[in-house]
Amino acid sequence: MPAATSRSPDTSSGPDMRRLIDRLPNDDHTNGWSALLPGRLPRPSLVGEQEFDWVVIGAGYAGLAAARRLAALRSGESIAVVESGVVGENASGRNSGFAIDLPHTPSNAAASVEQGRRAIRVGRFALAELERLIQDHRIACDWERRGRYHAAVTGEIASKVLDIYAANLRAWGEAFEPLTRDELENRLGTRYYHSAIYTPGTCLMNPAALVRGLADSLPPEVELFENSPVIEVEFDGPSPFVRTTAGRIRFGKLILAVNAFAPSFGVFRDRQIPVLLFASLTQPLTSEQHARLGADESWGITPAHGVAGSTLRLTADKRLLIRQGFDYSPSLTTNEARRDAARVKHTELLARRFAHLGGTLDIEHFWMGWLAVSHNHAPAFGQISDNVYAAACCNGSGIVRHTAAGMLIAELANGQRSELTDDFLVQGTASYIPPRPIRDIGVHLTLMRERASGRHEI
Ligand SMILES: Cc1cc2nc3c(=O)[nH]c(=O)nc-3n(C[C@H](O)[C@H](O)[C@H](O)COP(=O)(O)OP(=O)(O)OC[C@H]3O[C@@H](n4cnc5c(N)ncnc54)[C@H](O)[C@@H]3O)c2cc1C
Repeated sequence: MPAATSRSPDTSSGPDMRRLIDRLPNDDHTNGWSALLPGRLPRPSLVGEQEFDWVVIGAGYAGLAAARRLAALRSGESIAVVESGVVGENASGRNSGFAIDLPHTPSNAAASVEQGRRAIRVGRFALAELERLIQDHRIACDWERRGRYHAAVTGEIASKVLDIYAANLRAWGEAFEPLTRDELENRLGTRYYHSAIYTPGTCLMNPAALVRGLADSLPPEVELFENSPVIEVEFDGPSPFVRTTAGRIRFGKLILAVNAFAPSFGVFRDRQIPVLLFASLTQPLTSEQHARLGADESWGITPAHGVAGSTLRLTADKRLLIRQGFDYSPSLTTNEARRDAARVKHTELLARRFAHLGGTLDIEHFWMGWLAVSHNHAPAFGQISDNVYAAACCNGSGIVRHTAAGMLIAELANGQRSELTDDFLVQGTASYIPPRPIRDIGVHLTLMRERASGRHEI
């Protein structure tokens, strides 16, 4: 096994020695996925002075995968996972529940075809690991391999995006089915889409149930502390520590897996763009409404236009999910007016697609969640300083990609760099973005352009 190599190119924006964390996650208690689940008793919070060989901050897919991998690699060593809130209320538990096996490659240039092949290897590896854990630990999360419809509302976006996607799939040797409006109506029960490409490998689930199950089945070497926001860190020096309001851990090495919150720790400050997304779940459809849908028992649609488009699902328990709205959110906050507008839009967009079901399509749960994207779609991943490693920012598809990132960052912190890490890093690492306010102007202009080009795709 070759030794781990150099540091992340992000050393220009690396952490300070000691740092107060200025921005903490704030749970708005609206996550629809966890509202559907039975209650769960969170693990105790961190109290008093403690020592661990390893600390992982963040209990999403990345942090949990990192902790589990460390336990396998560093037998006999102690590992703490410190989580600000409660497992399942983060992006990992709030997403649309697509574990996607294939990358979206924006071009069919030879280099990106090869890059895509290698990304598929990483994605399939992480997906297989998730499936193994779900089976071994009997995680009840409605996991089903249903595949995915990547759909365009207009012919224009179909020929711009889906045609390239089909060419990529052909080059990768992946199975797919192009589908027309009529075929989609037969399967999904709506004529809204011009066309789609169906690929069979995506799995759908309740993501809050999945991430809870992953946390509750961690090996005994791993101690999870919930409701324990880290408010101060000292990354390096003779006695590095993380501090919460009621406790402190002195550690040997640390893995930061805090997604959009990495810049609060002084990490990837100039690499990540925080984005706010909104989602809704309807009440379960009546049997009459369900009978008017298509032949597929449950399904998932991802939008060909990533920024303007809508993600939809018919869930295993016969609810409709919609995820639409893509806001630049540098403060990682929002307001009631924006939430209300997003919710109203969801109702309208469901009606456009499913008015023929009759009755009402009442939204039972509405929520929002943050993720971080990078300018070049590459991950923010690597060694940050002597004792500190970080994995963040995989531009959506985080169920699979952050599971992979968590496992691979643990290996890197253990001095290992495998072929899979090379496959992961062939995507590059998150590129530099200029500081605010230049960044704000650039992102707003890009989003305006994207929304205009996708205005008929919502
Ligand atoms: C609405 C929405 C829909 C999405 N849909 C999909 C989808 O269908 N498929 C897909 O693959 N991806 C999807 N994504 C993206 C995916 O959810 C994320 O990429 C993934 O969950 C990120 O995992 P993570 O572990 O890196 O981060 P997170 O799940 O955000 O976990 C980071 C953790 O760090 C903790 N933390 C932060 N600061 C501190 C602190 N100071 N102290 C202690 N803990 C801290 C947070 O509380 C959080 O629990 C979606 C995202 C959203 C928001």
